[in-house]
Amino acid sequence: MTETAYEETIAEHHSHATEHRTARSLPEPLRALERLSRNYWWSWGRDGNAVFRDLDPETWERAEHNPLWLLREVSEFRLMQMATDPAYINRVAQLAAAFDEYMQPSEKTWAARTSNVRQAITHENPAAYFCAEYGIHNSLPLYSGGLGMLAGDHLKSASDLGLPLVAIGLLYRYGYFRQRISKAGWQEEHYGEMPPSDLALELVRDTAGAPIHVSVEMRGRQVYAQVWRAAVGRIPLYLLDTNIEANEETDRWVTGHLYGGDRETRIVQELMLGVGGVRALRRLNVEPCVFHLNEGHSAFLTLELARELVEGERRGEAAMDFAEASARVRERCVFTTHTPVAAGNDEFAPWLVHQCLGESYWQRLGISFEDFLRLGRVRPEDEDEAFGMTPLAIHSCRSTNGVSRKHGEVSRSLWQSMWADKAVDDVPITSVTNGVHAPTWVAPLLRDLFERRIGSDWAEVIYDESKWRGGVAKITDAELWERHLLLKERLVAFVRHRTYHARAHQSESFEYREAARTMFDAKALTIGFARRIAAYKRWNLLLSDPERLHRLIADAGRPVQFVFAGKAHPQDMGAKVILQQIAVWKRDPAIRQRAVFIQDYDQEIARQLVQSVDVWMNVPRRPLEASGTSGQKVGLNGGLNMSVLDGWWIEGFDESAGGNGWAVGRADSDSPTGANEAAQMEAESLDHASREDIDDAESLYRVLEEQVVPRYYDNRDEHGVPVAWVRMMRRSIETLAPAFNSDRMVQDYAQKIYAG
Ligand SMILES: *Cc1c(COP(=O)(O)O)cnc(C)c1O
Repeated sequence: MTETAYEETIAEHHSHATEHRTARSLPEPLRALERLSRNYWWSWGRDGNAVFRDLDPETWERAEHNPLWLLREVSEFRLMQMATDPAYINRVAQLAAAFDEYMQPSEKTWAARTSNVRQAITHENPAAYFCAEYGIHNSLPLYSGGLGMLAGDHLKSASDLGLPLVAIGLLYRYGYFRQRISKAGWQEEHYGEMPPSDLALELVRDTAGAPIHVSVEMRGRQVYAQVWRAAVGRIPLYLLDTNIEANEETDRWVTGHLYGGDRETRIVQELMLGVGGVRALRRLNVEPCVFHLNEGHSAFLTLELARELVEGERRGEAAMDFAEASARVRERCVFTTHTPVAAGNDEFAPWLVHQCLGESYWQRLGISFEDFLRLGRVRPEDEDEAFGMTPLAIHSCRSTNGVSRKHGEVSRSLWQSMWADKAVDDVPITSVTNGVHAPTWVAPLLRDLFERRIGSDWAEVIYDESKWRGGVAKITDAELWERHLLLKERLVAFVRHRTYHARAHQSESFEYREAARTMFDAKALTIGFARRIAAYKRWNLLLSDPERLHRLIADAGRPVQFVFAGKAHPQDMGAKVILQQIAVWKRDPAIRQRAVFIQDYDQEIARQLVQSVDVWMNVPRRPLEASGTSGQKVGLNGGLNMSVLDGWWIEGFDESAGGNGWAVGRADSDSPTGANEAAQMEAESLDHASREDIDDAESLYRVLEEQVVPRYYDNRDEHGVPVAWVRMMRRSIETLAPAFNSDRMVQDYAQKIYAG
């Protein structure tokens, strides 16, 4: 092969890969699957997931639920079998019709019907949403945890509500790490490369067909990014990607890993997200009415908007000085903080800022380096303070909000010193409580029940409380319990399957491996605990009295079983030790059939757990849980929360009419310690058990022993239905679903924050 021919082949391969056509053309009756696989709507559209799965369940599992892989890998014979199956053809046609209808411009959406929103946020001037991570679906693994899931749910609800919004993020070539636990119980991190051709992304091109590039100067040179577009229903998500030949090798790694690098990697990533993100929107001719900074990572965007004004780049605007420019920028930007401790906020040492941004950055803004540093400080004159992204965001945005009422309060006290003249209660930080995207998180069996009892439009009017009250009253005890039990049987099968394979992978003994086939019992009270392994989440609270815990688990007549999952930050050795303790503890022959740790917590595992457990446990150290959302997913599925009164649960917990869950620890939600002291405690020692830890552990055991276990096992009717328990399940659904969903959340943002 000649050199040019070789290059052409590569180029062809490359363009083929980047255009990521599926390698084959599908038989006519299934052709719509190709189109459906290009928009993540399939993942929450009715029957969408099942239509792809049923094409070939085995390949679907191997493809990790990625429709593109599925369509590429499914065998010709299987494809033709399904292409000649009238029932399947019909399902594909229905799904495609629902998708086409969904994508039609409509005057009937909530945003089109709500006049202040319709006027303020338009297709010409949409809201622009910036976030460092997005949890849209497992097959687009650009998230690490709660923040990403929340962002994904925000986009899906914006789409469902017809709210004009564009989103900006980064395409991490290696995403977040995959977790494996060694035989000794130690967490190992793995990174798998994700070629964009395997993802449902489209490279954004100019009218001449060339990929568009944006560039940002950092570390003394221009760094270029190409832009990918993911379709999330009606919402475009633009992802910047520096892995291109125009860049030096180091710079290709700017978008290498999510939260994987050092401080320098973090600051250059944030430059690309904020500055590059604004430039991408300009290239795309998107003129946002408002810029939403979801967490401080993207706060550099405010400086880029100011630079445009200072340098007179905006059409019809004369150049102006920085003070005027930033006042103008403030009017366009809003900020959501997610971190209740000062230490959790991103900050950078001044030398690093100097090195990565470079002289020209503040020169172009018309300010000195000292002035520049002041923008990122709580006390601008305090030269010992680092450059903080949260102070920068608060200074530069017209509105700041926390993510639950309590978190709003905590944030007002945390950042009070930025308003020297204001009392805590007058600090202008508000709150919008987080919510979850119901069609993404509800089990298909319950979705079906909601359709029957609440109405086929249950998801469109999910925020309508009266509709829920009326609808849930129509659900019978027997049908709710029956469906829940089926979901628990699915969970048991899932637990056995995952555990068997994990043990095989760890080369465990034959006997131990085989034991996975009989572990867990769908009839036993099942408690889920899945969250990041961080000190404040207090994973070790449950294990603080192993004997007492053992009595709960080993009770022959009223057993309790536990399912755990979660990742520790790769550099957090303390968290890895906690994980190891859990891993060693659950190997105990007396425990092993009733406690399991599922490796590699991700959106799919979360879905399995939140749809099936009886109880969801959450025991954070107050007031460090800004909101939390996993318990909201559980509530929607009829599971019961057993949680410390922190974050969203302060608003969600309701004792009336039999109750919708349990509160662990003190009933008042006031923190004995301020957020900063709590952070201090967090930093001090992982084993450090404060008075509050001891009290909360005692309370946790008592709630379990005296309330949860009896409520589950007692009071069964002649069909074995635990009547009082099911009543709580119903309360959980009717009180939590209409309040803690992301449609309500996005409506709040649109009306109170974006249009405000
Ligand atoms: C919902 C979700 C979270 C958020 O959980 P909280 O512990 O409630 O903050 C994190 N990770 C995954 C995979 C989720 O689905």
